[in-house]
Amino acid sequence: MIPTKTGASATTLTASRKTDPHADVIVIGAGAAGMMAAATAGRRGLRVVLIDHAQRLAEKIRISGGGRCNFTNLGASPAQYLSRNPHFCRSALAAYTPRDFIDLISAYGVRWHEKHRGQLFCNQSSEDIIGVLKAECDAARVVWRMPCSVQAIEALQPGFALHTSQGRLTAANVVLATGGMAIPQLGATDFALRIARQFGLKIVEPRPALVPLTFDAEAWKPFGELSGVALEVAVSTQSEFAPGARRGTAPMQFHEDLLFTHRGLSGPAILQISSYWNPGEPVTVDLAPGQDLACALIQAKAGSRQQLATVVAGLWPKRLSDVWLGAHAESSAGAGTGRLLAGARAASDTAPGGGLRGDQRLADVSDKALRALADRIHGWSLVPTGTAGYKKAEVMRGGVDTAELNQKTLEARDVPGLYVIGEAVDVTGWLGGYNFQWAWASGVACGRAVQAQAVAG
Ligand SMILES: Cc1cc2nc3c(=O)[nH]c(=O)nc-3n(C[C@H](O)[C@H](O)[C@H](O)COP(=O)(O)OP(=O)(O)OC[C@H]3O[C@@H](n4cnc5c(N)ncnc54)[C@H](O)[C@@H]3O)c2cc1C
Repeated sequence: MIPTKTGASATTLTASRKTDPHADVIVIGAGAAGMMAAATAGRRGLRVVLIDHAQRLAEKIRISGGGRCNFTNLGASPAQYLSRNPHFCRSALAAYTPRDFIDLISAYGVRWHEKHRGQLFCNQSSEDIIGVLKAECDAARVVWRMPCSVQAIEALQPGFALHTSQGRLTAANVVLATGGMAIPQLGATDFALRIARQFGLKIVEPRPALVPLTFDAEAWKPFGELSGVALEVAVSTQSEFAPGARRGTAPMQFHEDLLFTHRGLSGPAILQISSYWNPGEPVTVDLAPGQDLACALIQAKAGSRQQLATVVAGLWPKRLSDVWLGAHAESSAGAGTGRLLAGARAASDTAPGGGLRGDQRLADVSDKALRALADRIHGWSLVPTGTAGYKKAEVMRGGVDTAELNQKTLEARDVPGLYVIGEAVDVTGWLGGYNFQWAWASGVACGRAVQAQAVAG
């Protein structure tokens, strides 16, 4: 049976068993990873306190997957995660698989379906997932402190003391599960990073990821008209994070949909590549993947009385072909609004005879000019000025350096009893359910590892 609604109010969550100020484990952050860790440790008989500063439980799960939570991906493996150490996530992912999570939610009667490339979504609502996690915590006798904020954490020898809005609490273990900084409007903070730094843990520079890319407003003007146009593309970037690849050797590439927006580019293809993009680097978009446009255009010339624009519009969304040919003509003539075409692979071959116009008869366009046009469409290389930032990002890339953590337990190597799990760790998944799978797996790894222990004071 699916547990009932979980808009579990703050009062409900603070009411029970809150008098004992000592616990075996205090988990800070009642999101995906935190609830999983708390329930797992509680099921092992440990006294667990779960703290969150939010008014409503698990907002990110609630809004995820368009309200249906893409809760895992059947193909999850280390290959879909970015990290300074791409092997770090292997152990936790192997110890708690997508199948394990499916079994858990299925035991509660949650119905789900596969949408696309192994992505699993709830049939009904993300609330079903929150309900399962809440029920698991309750079954494990986890004590809720919510809303509750943590002002300071002090190391005892052994254990920790937390100064919170509900008083001083002590525990043998503290788990940082406060996630990343994406969507600060939902209460996301850099808490885990601040506390990690306080205990001397190194941080891999955090950045927004799975985020739209933005461009210089003036240069983007002609493409801004395309806002709302979507098409399938192949997008790539050279990246130091490409799994198994050295910088400058293998571009990271995604075949997905791209969406034009007023400020730049979005859609799954762009969100995916944004995680690999570094400021100042170009991204390259093949706007007609799998087609040989040069060949198609040159073949279409024979006996054709059609205008170039009509032929290109037959291969592409019409709005895109109009704007593209307009910008192409301008860049060929050296004008400003076509600037974003300047980096295209074949830039030096363009504009033989002064450029292309959409109203030219295809038959009058040289093969060389058509090849140059096709090269630009297949290799649109453009340098974003930035990203849409944490307000629009789905995740934070970077975080607590995995070199500081034990990969089997997520415990800090040099701070016994301090654990970091979920998005706060420098493990960032692709779009498609991978981030939740990491949250579940890292939460379980930690929950299975924490040990009860006497605390100093
Ligand atoms: C719009 C959107 C859609 C997404 N969709 C998907 C999807 O479909 N599939 C997928 O795999 N991933 C998705 N993600 C990513 C996924 O939500 C996160 O990667 C995942 O929730 C991380 O889990 P976590 O437990 O580490 O952090 P969170 O789930 O973010 O939980 C952190 C918790 O810590 C609390 N907290 C933060 N700071 C403090 C503090 N200072 N004190 C106390 N508590 C604090 C927060 O209130 C929150 O409850 C999406 C993200 C967004 C923003």
